[in-house]
Amino acid sequence: MSDVLSELLARERAAYAARNPRSRAAHERADHLLGRVPMTWMAKSAAEFPLYLDRASGARVWDADGHELVDFCLGDTGAMAGHSPEATVKAVTRRYAELGGATTMMPTEDAAAVAEELTRRFGVSRWSFALTATDANRWALRLARAVTERPRVLVMSFSYHGSVDESFIVTGPDGPVSRPGNVGAPFDVTRTSRVVEFNDVEALERELAPCDVAAVLMEPAMTNMGIVLPEPGYLAAVRELTRRAGTLLINDETHTVSAGPGGCTRAWGLRPDVVTVGKAIAGGLPIGAYGLTGELAERLLGRADLDLVDTGGVGGTLAGNALSMAAARATLGEVLTEGAYDRMIALSARYTEGVQRLIDTHGLPWVVTRLGARSEYRFMAPGPRNGTESYLSTDAELEDYLHLYLLNRGVMLTPFHNMALMCPDTTEADVDLHLEILGAAVAALPTA
Ligand code: PMP
Repeated sequence: MSDVLSELLARERAAYAARNPRSRAAHERADHLLGRVPMTWMAKSAAEFPLYLDRASGARVWDADGHELVDFCLGDTGAMAGHSPEATVKAVTRRYAELGGATTMMPTEDAAAVAEELTRRFGVSRWSFALTATDANRWALRLARAVTERPRVLVMSFSYHGSVDESFIVTGPDGPVSRPGNVGAPFDVTRTSRVVEFNDVEALERELAPCDVAAVLMEPAMTNMGIVLPEPGYLAAVRELTRRAGTLLINDETHTVSAGPGGCTRAWGLRPDVVTVGKAIAGGLPIGAYGLTGELAERLLGRADLDLVDTGGVGGTLAGNALSMAAARATLGEVLTEGAYDRMIALSARYTEGVQRLIDTHGLPWVVTRLGARSEYRFMAPGPRNGTESYLSTDAELEDYLHLYLLNRGVMLTPFHNMALMCPDTTEADVDLHLEILGAAVAALPTA
């Protein structure tokens, strides 16, 4: 099996190199970029060099060699509203080109409108803004520690919440350890954080028992190690246990916002103390946001000892800027609407059913899981119950082969996942094209 797969992968790599000479040349010229890429994780490619972007529109991108690709990656959720949706372009152009003032440290009325809409969607009612979901999480954790006067944070093993120092902890055979590859860790993460497996109620109860955890930071369904759905009753148990322990519950909805307009929080009737979100809600422009319950906001604002206004550790010069706010107001109000979600979720169901048919036809030991407008396959069956199980099921060679096979024929998945996300511009024909090409890629595999 492995020899055949290696040969198939080598063939796809050669085809990729042959069809993308301009991307290769651009990559080779980029001597002064660290690792030859503008952001080190753009080096994550199934081939020797990444594809360079020329332009993008709706559910499509065109690379530097002129190939049109159906984009199911959508900037790993940052472009879930589609590339440059018209309403967002209009609002951004008006703000930046006509009115001016992208960044002034003065509020605009767009911000209050965005906060009102986020409240309607997610339930929590006092919002503040950042430029990335990472910073939204980072600042939410600081606020949680300040309010509870507790030192620790608890996360799920092999979760991802951005480059938040306290979150790089995983379970190990002899207890919690720093996540493999943690770059220049500023402190021993096992002293600031606790970690449990997703879907493990007993472990959570045990780790909350010392009452030193300020907040549990979690996705209601894991999305960064494949999709891992909560088992029945799990999220209710998390809420009950955190409440009992005096620990705040932060739902990171940055990716799970695929579940519906109010993410899993609204779709599943959850009641977190804090919601964090980012990426998609400003149509691809930088934004992060965190929302607190009214009660929590009161507790926080009543604390005269906390410097929330100047250099207290929460805030950023460009956070809440007028351009991001104009973009978010238009994106939420006119692009990522309830109707758009209905269509995106129906397309994702079509995609998921198609992949399931392939799995059944070929007897593949895979699972495909859907979270609203997002669908992902994993190379294990039954599916993972937690992040560690999912981590251990990774098959880099098979993943690279499938990614390149699809890419060489006009379909792009997220480099870090076998994930497909639908945007308002995705069509049934796009979904069917992916299924047809994936079917051919699978048919070439020796197990098929
Ligand atoms: N939260 C989750 C759940 C994420 O998946 C990510 C990034 N993939 C982040 C936060 C951080 O987002 P950003 O890198 O845009 O800050």
